Amino acid sequence: MERLTDIFGIDVFNETVMKERLPGEAFEAWKKAMEDGEPLDREMADVIAGAMKEWAIEHGATHYTHWFQPLTGITAEKHDSFITPAPGGKVLMEFSGKELIKGEPDASSFPSGGLRATFEARGYTAWDCTSPAFLREDAAGVTLCIPTAFCSYTGEALDMKTPLLRSMEAISKQAVRIVHLFGAKDVKKVDCSVGAEQEYFLVDHRSYMQREDLIFTGATLFGAKPPKGQEMDDHYFGSLKERVASFMKELNRELWKLGIYAKTQHNEAAPAQHELAPIYTSANIATDHNQLIMECMKKVAKRHGLECLLHEKPFAGVNGSGKHNNWSLVTDTGKNLLNPGKTPNENIQFLLFMAAVLEAVDTHADLLRLSAANPGNDRRLGGNEAPPSIVSVFLGEQLDDVVTQLIETGEAARLKKVGRLYTGVSTLPTIGRDATDRNRTSPFAFTGNKFEFRSVGSSMSIADANTVLNTIVADTLQKFADILEQAPDFEQAVHNLIKDSLTEHERIIFNGNGYAKEWVEEAARRGLPNIRSMVEAIPALTTEKAITVFTRQNVLTATELKSRSEIYYEIYAKEINIEARTMISMAATKFIPATIRYLKNVATSMNEVKAACPGANVEVQEELVLKTSALLKKAQDALNELRQLDEEAGKKQEGKEMAIFFREKVVPAMERLRVPVDELETIVDHELWPVPTYAELLYEI
Ligand code: ADP
Ligand code: MG
Repeated sequence: MERLTDIFGIDVFNETVMKERLPGEAFEAWKKAMEDGEPLDREMADVIAGAMKEWAIEHGATHYTHWFQPLTGITAEKHDSFITPAPGGKVLMEFSGKELIKGEPDASSFPSGGLRATFEARGYTAWDCTSPAFLREDAAGVTLCIPTAFCSYTGEALDMKTPLLRSMEAISKQAVRIVHLFGAKDVKKVDCSVGAEQEYFLVDHRSYMQREDLIFTGATLFGAKPPKGQEMDDHYFGSLKERVASFMKELNRELWKLGIYAKTQHNEAAPAQHELAPIYTSANIATDHNQLIMECMKKVAKRHGLECLLHEKPFAGVNGSGKHNNWSLVTDTGKNLLNPGKTPNENIQFLLFMAAVLEAVDTHADLLRLSAANPGNDRRLGGNEAPPSIVSVFLGEQLDDVVTQLIETGEAARLKKVGRLYTGVSTLPTIGRDATDRNRTSPFAFTGNKFEFRSVGSSMSIADANTVLNTIVADTLQKFADILEQAPDFEQAVHNLIKDSLTEHERIIFNGNGYAKEWVEEAARRGLPNIRSMVEAIPALTTEKAITVFTRQNVLTATELKSRSEIYYEIYAKEINIEARTMISMAATKFIPATIRYLKNVATSMNEVKAACPGANVEVQEELVLKTSALLKKAQDALNELRQLDEEAGKKQEGKEMAIFFREKVVPAMERLRVPVDELETIVDHELWPVPTYAELLYEI
């Protein structure tokens, strides 16, 4: 029997392995580089590279790659083998410090938003020594993967990792200033901890292969509602099906080998939907791990004859998938700054950090919304069981009461009791109740000792969401620290600051039902932005306000922000274009021909019945022919219209103009094509329907 503890982390060049294999001096140099950001000198880098290579080769590696996260949201890599020619027709396995620290992938094939003219294709990858190197085994053999940041020839960030790392430094710096004011002078660093819960769907590989929409876009673009959806709530936490269970078992093993703390797994609300949550870790590592989790899910699913769908809305009318980004701040002395303790009303430092988060989220709700924007999430947010596109914060009854008291009097003398939970069964233990209930409808909820940002889409990297969170909270903390460091009476100043900040930003707190229609109206009254789509969200990145906060925190320059907004428009336009073309192809070559075949069958039946028995009643056939023909015509008209609009879109200027055209013209035309086709699916003989239905996709694994 293999034991978990024996395999955990065996594919990772982690601190323990480094300590074992590196000379003391090199190990110390690496630690210093990691903890204090001091650059490694070439000599030390060579020593580390040598040890890394030996370790990798012992584990069967032949290649290495700089593993990085370009703005496409997925990971990229270019493999090089370790071999160098040696005399006598032999080879040596070599890997130098230079190769470890710096790579030069051709950057021209990655989005740069105009940062890099194509003739300056040079881009650099630089080793992120805070995230450990790891081995990956696949059909190509074993590869040593080195997590890196990716930047242009002139040093601008071309990836998601660089700004994330910068934002972690920013929040650490400002949070340290605050905790020092509260007397904890021994704190040198504050880390942001992240645990991202990953939702996904599993469908049968053979069914998947029959649907172009799944293959090309990761989601179904057509499909009538199945007779049974999630209304019975029988899937959530239901017991696992055998095939799914064996997938999860293997997935866990792969993840454990990579040192990923895959902890919980369960069925989600929708049929065929599941979730995996790792134990939280430092934001940059959590980001790498989340990418690896997604990669492994896809790979392992295939081995089980399954396909893993990470799209935010693979099935219309069914629960979508998100990524709950749990976030907190922890000092290097081990204290969670978002832990309210038993008496949050007396925990002034906690209240100050909470106020900073509320102020930051209220001030920059548009940036947070953008950090969770992608074309898939446009269909999810505000849909079935998904957070609305309006950003608000849920605090729970107890904290909300504390906030109310603080706003009214500047003091929170009382603490609402949450009490014990009595099950009414004497043999069951009485359990302490959590101070916050789980409000599942809030996009940004305080959940005990962390905030949970739930809008992030399931296929997205969590880097952007955490970069924004860190940056905006750092900026508020900076403002707070500037005030408090100057204050003659610290106690009084803290009280005033908390009271003023909460009073000014109270509107962001909402403890009610985020799914209700009334909330949309109420939020509008409060002046909270309701940004419905990615295209509408992108301008947030280049406002005066955004440029000020990102540059003040040294996270992104105005140029980098501008280029990012260009890239987002481009990504949007490209993705919708692929969706539109897929729909055109499916409708033209599958659904319309299938409907015509069906019509022919019915018409033939009508004629044959009449010929065989002239007095027979053929009203049913007649009705079907009329109804089907009418829908067929609607489908064909919508198809023609979509074709024409998609062509027109291609003539628009790339970037913003094109993205807006796709959003405003093409997307509605796609919806107009879907309606008659979905209705036809409910009429046409199932035997003739050319693709697997929702019922087959969702229930047959
Ligand atoms: P739920 O959200 O269902 O209540 P958990 O409390 O288990 O589930 O937490 C979900 C995720 O939040 C996990 O990934 C967990 O590791 C992470 N998490 C827990 N505490 C923290 C924290 N202090 N900071 C960041 N993430 C955390
Ligand atoms: Mg959760």
